[in-house]
This record gives sequence, C-alpha cells and structure tokens, in this order.
Amino acid sequence: MSILQILAPFDGWCGTLDEVPDPVFAGRMLGDGVAIDPTTGILVAPCAGEIVTLPASAHAVSIRTAQGIDVLVHIGVDTVQLGGRGFDARVRPGASVRAGDELIRFDLDVVARGAKSLMTPILVTPMDGLRLQQRRAPGLVSSGEVLFEIAGIATAAGIETSTPPPRAAHAPKEEAAAHTLIVTLRHGLHARPAALLAQRAKAFGAQASLSAHGRTANARSVVAIMALGVRQGDELSIQASGADAPQSVASLVAGIQEALRMESAAGHGAAAGTAPDSSKTAPTAAPRPLAAAGVLGGVIAVPGIAVGRATRIERREIAVAEHGADSGRERAELEQARINVRMRLERVAATGGATRREIIAAHLEFLDDPQVNEAAHESIAAGKSAGFAWRSAIRRSISALQALEDSRLRERVDDLLDVESHVLLALAGEARPMNIPLPERAVLVADDLLPSELTALDRARLVAICLSGGGATSHVAILAAAMDIPMLVGLGSGIRDIADGATVIVDADAGTLQTAPAAPAIEQARAAVESRLMRRAKTLAEAQIECRALDGTRVEVFANLGNVTDAAAAVAHGAEGCGLLRTEFLFIDRETAPTEAEQLAAYQDIAAALGPRPLILRLMDVGGDKPLRYLPLPAEDNPALGLRGVRTALAHPDLMRTQLRAALRVRPAGNVRLLIPMITDAAEILAVRGVIDELEAEIGIADRVELGAMIETPAAALMASGLIREVDFLSIGSNDLTQYTLAMDRGHPELAGRTDALHPAVLKLVAAAAGAGAAAGKMVAVCGGVAADRLAVPLLLGLGVRELSVVPAAVPAIKRQIRSLRINDCRELALRCLDLASPGEVRAQAAEMLESLGDMQ
Ligand code: PEP
Ligand code: MG
Repeated sequence: MSILQILAPFDGWCGTLDEVPDPVFAGRMLGDGVAIDPTTGILVAPCAGEIVTLPASAHAVSIRTAQGIDVLVHIGVDTVQLGGRGFDARVRPGASVRAGDELIRFDLDVVARGAKSLMTPILVTPMDGLRLQQRRAPGLVSSGEVLFEIAGIATAAGIETSTPPPRAAHAPKEEAAAHTLIVTLRHGLHARPAALLAQRAKAFGAQASLSAHGRTANARSVVAIMALGVRQGDELSIQASGADAPQSVASLVAGIQEALRMESAAGHGAAAGTAPDSSKTAPTAAPRPLAAAGVLGGVIAVPGIAVGRATRIERREIAVAEHGADSGRERAELEQARINVRMRLERVAATGGATRREIIAAHLEFLDDPQVNEAAHESIAAGKSAGFAWRSAIRRSISALQALEDSRLRERVDDLLDVESHVLLALAGEARPMNIPLPERAVLVADDLLPSELTALDRARLVAICLSGGGATSHVAILAAAMDIPMLVGLGSGIRDIADGATVIVDADAGTLQTAPAAPAIEQARAAVESRLMRRAKTLAEAQIECRALDGTRVEVFANLGNVTDAAAAVAHGAEGCGLLRTEFLFIDRETAPTEAEQLAAYQDIAAALGPRPLILRLMDVGGDKPLRYLPLPAEDNPALGLRGVRTALAHPDLMRTQLRAALRVRPAGNVRLLIPMITDAAEILAVRGVIDELEAEIGIADRVELGAMIETPAAALMASGLIREVDFLSIGSNDLTQYTLAMDRGHPELAGRTDALHPAVLKLVAAAAGAGAAAGKMVAVCGGVAADRLAVPLLLGLGVRELSVVPAAVPAIKRQIRSLRINDCRELALRCLDLASPGEVRAQAAEMLESLGDMQ
C-alpha cells in the first residue's frame, strides 16, 4: 500500500475547500484538498516532485510527484488578475524540488489588497481514483506539517484497493469497496459503456475509479474511462471510497452488465430485423477491395447503392485567442457556452430518433466530462482564454485516445472534435447551422464528417457518404446507418481528385466508389437502386397488414417503446400497438419526480403518435438495476431481490398515485391499458387495483381501465391461473423471468452465454402462464427480448402466446416469420422442447424446424 503525505506550504489557518469563495475550488471541480489562509509569504513545496506549472504571474504552482500525482497550490482567489504583482517565483517550471523547498515568495499585503480572498486551495488534481485521508482538522497550521494523506495510489503491482484506509478518529465515516471482473463486452469499454458508467458514478458521493493495464481512471470521466483502452477479455478493477462506496461499486458492476444487455439486445434486434435497425451499434466493416482504374476501394460502413453527384461541404476553422483577459470571466464564459450547447443538444435530441439521442447523450457526457473540464479550468487558471483552454483540454483527450491501439476508441475522436467545435462556436456567440443545403442526389465526399454535420445535412437530398478516412464504427457511421444512407470510409486521398458535381456510383455492398462511370454503368446502378427501394417498400407495406399465422391464427405484433420517437418508428414499421411502454425511461435522468402534468403530456404524445393503436403503459419499474436519482432507495445487499417494480410503487404510494392519475387521463381512454411490473402474488395486484378504482371514482371514469400483470418471477408464472382472475391480460417479461428462474443475473458478463430464455425450465413457466391465459380466455403476451428471437417465435406461439412485443425495427421480420408458421407445427415443436435437457438442444430443434420451412435467414 502506498501513501503520500502533503505538507502545509506555509503557516496559516487551515480550513476546508468550502471556505474558498470560488465555485470551481469549493465545488471540487479541479480536485480535492484543503485550503489555508496564509500568515506568511513564503510558499514551500508541499511534496517532492517536478514543477509542472508555474505561470509567469507566479500566483499558482503545481508539482507532479514521482507517482504522477499533481498537487496544485493556488495562492488566493482571482490572483491571476494581479499579473504577477506581489509574487516572486523562486524556481522554474521543470525543476525538481524536495518537500519544503522554497517555491514562491509573495507580498501578503499587496496580494491581500488585490485579491478576492487569500484563502489558498491545496489540491490533488485530478483525483483519478485517489482518496484523501487523515485530513487536518480546521485550525492553525505551521509550514511543513501534514495536511492530508493521499491513498489509492497506483503502484507497480496495480492499485491499492483492497485495504480500506485507516480512519482518523475525527474523520467522517469513510468506506472503501472494490470489485474485479473480466470485461466481456464485444468492443470493450467503448464510448457507450463508458458513458453509462460515468453516469452511474455521478449518482454517488463516493469517489470511484476504474483500473486496467496498471492505469486508473476517474469513473465519472467518459474520456478517462475510454483512455484506459479496456478491450474484451481485459481485467477491470472497480474501486470506490466514501460513505456510499459499496453501492457505487455495485452500481458500476451493474452498469457493465447493463451495457452487456444492451449489446445483446442490439444483436437480437439485428438478427430478427430486415428493416434498417436504428438500434444498430456497429455497422459491419468489410475489407477494402482492390482498386481498378476509376474505382476507389473503401470499407463498408453502411451497405447500399447510390448514384449521385460528388458534393463537398465547407468546414470553417474556428480561431481562438490564446490568452484570456481574466480567469473569472473566462471561466464564466466557458460555463455559459457549455450551458448553451447543452440546451441546444437537448433540443436536437428531443426531436431525433433513438440513435441520435444516444449519440447526443455521449456528446453531453463529453461536455460535462470532469477530466476535460478540470484540464480546461487549469489552463484558464494559468491565464489562457476559455476557447484556448477548452480546445487544448479536448485535444489532450484526443491525443490519449489516438495513442490507443483500439480503432473503435480512436473513432471517438470525431465526437470530441464535434463537442469542441460546439463549445467554440458558442463562445463566439454562434451555433452550428441546423440545415446545410445540398444539391439534388448529393454524394457527400469529404476527408471526415462530424455527427452534427451529418444531422445538419438535408437528408432528402443526400444519397451516400464517401470519406477518405473515418471508421466503420464511428458515431457518424452509426447515425448514417440509422438514417439508412449508404456509406464508405477509408477510400484514401484519391477522393480529393473527384471534381465537384461529377456523377459517381457508390456501391457500398461491394465497397467501391466509381469516380468516372460510363453511361451504361450509371443506368445499371440506377436500376439497382430502384429495385432495392421497391423491395423495401414491399416489406414495409406487408408489415402494415394485420398479422396471421399460415393457418389463419391471429397473432398481434406490438412494439416496446421508451419515448415518442420510438412510437413513430413503431408505427412506421407496422407495429399494431405498444406492448410495453417503459415509463421509467421517460423520467430516469431527473433530479425531481415528474409531475402529473408532465407525465400526462409525455404519455399523451405517445398515445397520439400511436393513433388508434393500443398503448400498454407499464407502471414505473424502478429499483434494482434502474435507480432514480429523485427516489433515494435504501442500500440493499441484493437489489435484484429487493425493492423493485410494484414493491417500490407500493412503498411510495404518492408516486404511484401521481402516475396512475396521469395515465388514467390519457385520451382516448379505451386505448390505454396498464401493466404492473414484478408481480409475485395477487395481493399486489389487488392493492394497485384498489388505488386505480379510487382514482377512477375521483376523476369520474366509468369504464374500468384494463389491467395486466407482468410475469417476471417464477412465483407469478406458477400462480398465473390465480393471478389472471384479477387482471385482463398477462405479459411475460422473459428477461427477468429467465434471471429469476435460472438464478443468473441477467447482465452477468460471465453467465451471458447461459442466461438463455429458451432454457426448458423457463419454457415450462411460459407454458404455465400461457396455459392459464388460454383457460381464462385472456391474452398472454411476451414483451421480453426473447420475443424478437427468431428461434423462439415458433416455441412461444406453440405454447399459446398470441402477442409479441419487440423493438420497433424487428416488427416487419417477426410479422413475416409468423406468416410462414402453422400453429400446430409450433405446438408440436414446443411440446418436444419442454422435455429437452438444455437450451442448446431447444435451439437446435427450433432451427431444424425453421430450416425445414425454408426459413434460413
Ligand atoms: C422483462 O423483464 O423481460 C421486461 C420486459 O422488463 P425489463 O426488461 O424492462 O425489466
Ligand atoms: Mg423486467
């Protein structure tokens, strides 16, 4: 275990950072430490190391210790304004110093008169997983006395985490927790899991960090997490210290599981869907073909064919002055610019689809990234302008990513550049144009393209994108996939020779760009584009028709929704209704509970987007792996078995009543049905029904709203015949049902291959629930991920399920598959499978049946 002591740099009164009249220091934006009001004007080194910053104004100094930790001493507040008056540096940047060496002399009177405050922060910046302990209690301190100790320092063997820090008798209760796991995410800790983890880390007071490859990252910083370069199979340690350290570590572990779940959900959707899948996470990259004359070979980012005119867009360099006028003002300007960018991005996200929202969420994380912001604030403190500081902070993160071997992480560079330019434009009082005009049938030709540039382009006129550089898994490629725009990357510098306006053929199925095609080739390519459009229109048109199996049995195909944009996508893909609105996702990122009016507005928008189609609105399923910031739940040893779903709702009746009141007021009333999550017995249903009855009487609603229960626990499945008496329908949540049946965490990275909903034990429970529904003449649906699994579809229908609710993009393929199935064949298959020994055997039987039907997708 390695500990470093930080000593008082001068005599004075030692206090806390809260006493520094500057939100940056008091808010610990730069790091943690203490503050001293000096009584002498000789600043000595608080530790040994190298002087890394000592601006000409000599009002601050930072030392990098042998362990790579930066300790900053900033004399007073706003003292940069003195321009060096009253300060005298005694060493130069780059010098090696020992603890106690004299660094700066300053004239207390001059500085006191010119500064807002003399309170001097002594900080560790950034904290990067470090912990401070043995903090000196407020009171007089003499130069050279210990101010605090730094623990959690990376050593040659890794990071010391397992031993909790010794507690000072007077220190507040500090806890430490750690967990080590193997990352099984296909692409390692790339931007999305990093963003997910950073968000989770921010929800806790504990200082959490992640370590891998002997490096440590602040868990709140997406940039720092990505820069760890964690790939599939790498060992990752998660550690935290602070009052809620165990909960923080547990939540980060759950975050990795959630990322894994999202990854496999995206995989399922893609497997089942033929329509462009907006949940696609990484388009497939194909190798670059050999080039011929007039043909450039590239990497396929989004497949497709297009014929159009080569078009370039201009990108303006944003100039920034290096030096700032006044650090306070520069800081305030940077803050304001970030606020403006945030508001703008949030507005764009609100009107975009799921993919755009996810990408903007990643950009918002970069915008708030503590590592980037700390670096920018440091530069501002050293006299740089807000723009210069922001650009250099971003560029520093970019260099860290570029040094990694992982091309996926290097592809995040475009996102950082995008965020950089948003903020620089905002500082200049401008914003990125929302609409960049294009000529008809434009093939965009460029070296690279930022996500916000793509979304600003006129989609109706853009037929393809060709980049000399870029990556097939960059966010801009993911966006292009969601917008269904064929895209080639890595075409090389040859594309610079293409004349503006030249007709080109983009064959993003073959990975080629024909730069000077002859007339017959153009004609042939246009015909291919035409027939592709017709095929797609046919699949979509068929998806709009009500779905029946080959023998005429009616099967409803609904969509799972999280917001109004999903609802529009669901309708476009032929969903016959919403089988599961995960209402918790509408309000997850809030600091306060949504009001009845806010909820009503959100639900009503979704109902309107669905038109006459039914909307099954699930009551907030919070707790477990879905915490809400505004609903502090007690720490639990095993949250998956704790207060979640209906249990949380019954424990917080006010929240439940507000939601129910909003849901009951959605119009048209008959279209809305309510669904209760995580039921284990009929008493829970009766309790909720009782509240609904009361509210219906209060509001004056004559017709009882239809009510359903989720079958997510083995108890509910086994009790289904009793439960169904109290409800109008059942909906099987196979994700949770599988986890609770197999006693395998649904997101456990090492159990991912075994947490299979086609396990015969799970199928038996599905059979019990479906059988209860059939006996009572009531609908039994499946809304868990298994509903979009093509091998599962015949089994579920064979067991008696008559409604499947899947991600919107999967609806057309599921409908097409159902139309090819006969229920009797499905029933026979299901009966055979119930007696098999493993999910592998079940899958093999289902695959055999589909193959015999010619369904080989
Ligand atoms: C399920 O458990 O299958 C389900 C649909 O609910 P969620 O995935 O939201 O927990
Ligand atoms: Mg569930």
